[in-house]
Amino acid sequence: MQTPTEKTEILGLLPDQLKSVLSDMGAPAFRAKQIFRWLHVRRVTDFSEMTDQSKQFQNELDSRFCIKRINIVQKLASHMDDTVKYLYRLSDGNLVEAVRMVYHHGVTACISTQVGCKMGCKFCASAPLGFIRNLTAAEMLGQIYAMDADSPEDARISGIVLMGIGEPLDNYDNVIQFLKLISHPDGRNMSLRHLSLSTCGIVPMIDRLAEENFPLTLSVSLHAATDEKRSELMPVNRKYPLDQLLAACQRYFRKTGRRITFEYAVIAGENDTPAAAAALGARLRPVFSGQRPHINLIPVNPVSGTGFSAGSARAFQKLLEQEGLNATVRRTLGDDIKAACGQLRRDNIKDSP
Ligand code: SAH
Repeated sequence: MQTPTEKTEILGLLPDQLKSVLSDMGAPAFRAKQIFRWLHVRRVTDFSEMTDQSKQFQNELDSRFCIKRINIVQKLASHMDDTVKYLYRLSDGNLVEAVRMVYHHGVTACISTQVGCKMGCKFCASAPLGFIRNLTAAEMLGQIYAMDADSPEDARISGIVLMGIGEPLDNYDNVIQFLKLISHPDGRNMSLRHLSLSTCGIVPMIDRLAEENFPLTLSVSLHAATDEKRSELMPVNRKYPLDQLLAACQRYFRKTGRRITFEYAVIAGENDTPAAAAALGARLRPVFSGQRPHINLIPVNPVSGTGFSAGSARAFQKLLEQEGLNATVRRTLGDDIKAACGQLRRDNIKDSP
């Protein structure tokens, strides 16, 4: 007898992987496609709902696999805009967050890739809580599916950003499996053109991702243009300093033809000075001559205990213009509901007895 914890999480298997495990059970190949569709299109939560499968086969599936769901434990809807923040509880009790944001071009879901994070960025709400574990591909999908089930027809999720809790490139295999699952034509069929993966800059993994040749957008969290300041804000920079990071970005662009977006959280007095803008110009111009790198500015979300406060993204944008750099100011959404990822989980962990 298998105990429930030994069952395979069936939502995390691609059709070919399903085909191979089902063929070991003596099932014909077409069953894999049927079952994949039940799971990823019809979104059944129990094998007994797979009505085109025999009772006996449903029972066999049930004895080997589980369909884990993640539960919404808290939902906060912004009064300022249409942003909705979700706090989910995973099957082992851990908490993660996701956000649904409505932009003029569509609805974007921001999801988490790990429970906690190892990267230790000084401005981030998740860093002080440390790392607990990687999320499985099924748990990343689960965040989207729970949001799908909770979304009105006219607010269907059309884009995804991996910008929630965690460092996606520190959970590489599961993130790649998630990308293949969410974009599979027999499943959710989301175009990876509408997906952004954000990284703090793990250089070897950027190179590995380039080899996959996905049409996704790579976002690199830059936040400073000198090694001194970046290492202070983001410890990962001590391992992969700016020269190495920007060279990897250039290789990524050459290999995939996809332009990279740089994220820059504007922090008062830290990285918003004319000297910081000049440093950014001096760094990026020679590396990306003619490619016009895209920079996304966002005022840092002040997290208690970090001591940082928001600088003016507009003022910094002007400074960058003088440097010949193109930057956009990202709209901050859901300020009233702690929509910046990590803050809701952090408050819940702090509040728990
Ligand atoms: N680990 C990945 C993705 C998760 S963080 C990364 O580092 O990119 C998603 C984005 O939010 C990153 O750009 C991160 O630097 C930024 N971020 C984290 N804390 C923030 C804060 N308090 N204010 C503004 N942006 C923040």
